[in-house]
Amino acid sequence: MSRKSKRADKAAETLDRITPAFRPVQVEKTAPCQVGCANCGDIRGWIGLVAQRHKTGSSRDQAMAQAWQLIAEVNPFPATLGRICPHPCESDCNRAELDEPLAINAMERFLGDFGIRVELPLPRLRSEESEEWIGVVGAGPSGLSFAYQMARRGYRVTVYDAREKAGGMLRYGVPDYRLPQQVLDAEIQKIVDLGVELRLNTRVGTDISLEELRSRHASLYLGIGAQMGRGLPVPGGDGPSVWTGSDYLARINQGEAVETGARVIVVGGGNSAIDAARCARRGGADVTILYRRSRDEMPAIAHEIEDAIEEGVELILLAAPVSVEREGDGRMTGVQVQRMRLGQPDSSGRRRPEPLAGSEFRLPADTVIAAISQVPVLDGLESLDHDGDWLVADSHGAIDKDTLVGGDAVSPGIAGEAIIQGRHAAESLHARLRGLDPDKASDPVSPPIEPEDILLASKKGCEAVHESRLQGEQRVAAGMGEVAKTITEQQFLAEVERCFSCGSCYGCEQCYMYCTSGCFTKIEEPTPGMYFSLNLDQCKECGKCVEVCPCGFLEISQPSA
Ligand SMILES: Cc1cc2nc3c(=O)[nH]c(=O)nc-3n(C[C@H](O)[C@H](O)[C@H](O)COP(=O)(O)OP(=O)(O)OC[C@H]3O[C@@H](n4cnc5c(N)ncnc54)[C@H](O)[C@@H]3O)c2cc1C
Repeated sequence: MSRKSKRADKAAETLDRITPAFRPVQVEKTAPCQVGCANCGDIRGWIGLVAQRHKTGSSRDQAMAQAWQLIAEVNPFPATLGRICPHPCESDCNRAELDEPLAINAMERFLGDFGIRVELPLPRLRSEESEEWIGVVGAGPSGLSFAYQMARRGYRVTVYDAREKAGGMLRYGVPDYRLPQQVLDAEIQKIVDLGVELRLNTRVGTDISLEELRSRHASLYLGIGAQMGRGLPVPGGDGPSVWTGSDYLARINQGEAVETGARVIVVGGGNSAIDAARCARRGGADVTILYRRSRDEMPAIAHEIEDAIEEGVELILLAAPVSVEREGDGRMTGVQVQRMRLGQPDSSGRRRPEPLAGSEFRLPADTVIAAISQVPVLDGLESLDHDGDWLVADSHGAIDKDTLVGGDAVSPGIAGEAIIQGRHAAESLHARLRGLDPDKASDPVSPPIEPEDILLASKKGCEAVHESRLQGEQRVAAGMGEVAKTITEQQFLAEVERCFSCGSCYGCEQCYMYCTSGCFTKIEEPTPGMYFSLNLDQCKECGKCVEVCPCGFLEISQPSA
């Protein structure tokens, strides 16, 4: 059955059900984008601030600043994530039922760049300083998100990082052609401007002990990530010209020219493998990626895989190295590769790759980059609860009474998850320090509103905006130059208009116009979601207002028991 006829049936059913006990009620619902990801904040809310600015009396710049602030409540890195997030928020957008999902990630990037350009400060929650001094280990997105959330609540915060610069894998992993370092610098600076102190070149566990930090700080957050790439566990895999993905990318991202020779083999299927392959391609090498499962199982962001292929990277699936061939002097000459097939699912839920006997073949190679996986470095931190590789925390991110942990150190993921975990840990610690209930300090999410509850015909069909991008060969020629441009202001303002505002009133006035009993009264100073008050004294229970409400905000009240 089509969406349209489902909706008509639902409206008819609604009317059938109208008895004196069934009357319209305004109920804000959860938007599907919000369920996809809790890291873009109230997506419908920030889009609405701009889309509804004419109704709420905000200027364009005011509305954009308010929208940026709403994102920044939960995520201090909108320009960064607007560039690299795989944007799960878009996958359930109800707009897909009409044409294409909203370009939420591109809009987030636009607002992030706007916040940098007009120098918007991050929003504080409290100006008075609290007496507790909080320590953070790791200036990656997780540690910085935690530091930001504590600092804006008035705590004094110091972040220690082993590296020369802050940013974690966003600086030392993700290459500049996807995330220019100036963008990251600008967003980190906003956190520093809140008063967060950065102590760089300081490795906790060796330069300073965990015990010293514990005695200095009221509480600690550990966002130490997973810094150590695993080597290649095959004969010849520990000799010269074999890099781990993390070492190779860290050097590239610090501007070093890494000599790879003409033929590079990258092993792995995650973001590190794809980034390493694309960097080696930019260095002029012929690059082949070997991945032991099929493309469906590749953990890398799908469009990054496509970009790598477009840039000339060869992808050999269901194949794994079995040995690295070397001359007598140790010089690499090639890699022996074995074909694989997929067996039963393993503990990760993905089908286990099994070697196919007699399927070996040889690939010539000068360099191998093993981007297989990364694990935390626990030197001097062995006393912390861990399962061999990963730190182990409870549901509030606590590893012990005064220590919280989050991000890749607990399980490898994406930057958005690391930021969410940092925020949740800060909310939970703040609740504990102030005697509040830590269970209340997280994102409540009820089931999202379905497309059947939206009047799809209320909007004209039109495609989403797309960032303009260089083509494959141009991208390689541009080296570390950024491959995609931020959408223009005009595109941004057009895109916000595509939002259905699922489950929240956007002041379309349909209910007001159709109600002949005058039940709806305009609110004098409306805000997104709040345009009409409802008085049912004269309600004739015709159900028309519910039928014409395009965003599913009005529904028929259930009879009281
Ligand atoms: C190559 C690559 C590409 C990626 N691409 C994407 C992408 O496109 N989109 C996406 O969303 N995610 C991507 N990710 C994943 C993302 O970068 C990580 O999930 C995220 O950075 C994890 O954040 P974190 O703060 O937990 O750890 P990290 O970013 O690793 O930061 C940890 C910090 O802790 C510091 N540290 C560690 N140990 C100590 C110590 N003992 N003392 C002091 N400091 C210490 C480190 O120096 C580092 O700065 C990518 C990762 C890599 C490696």
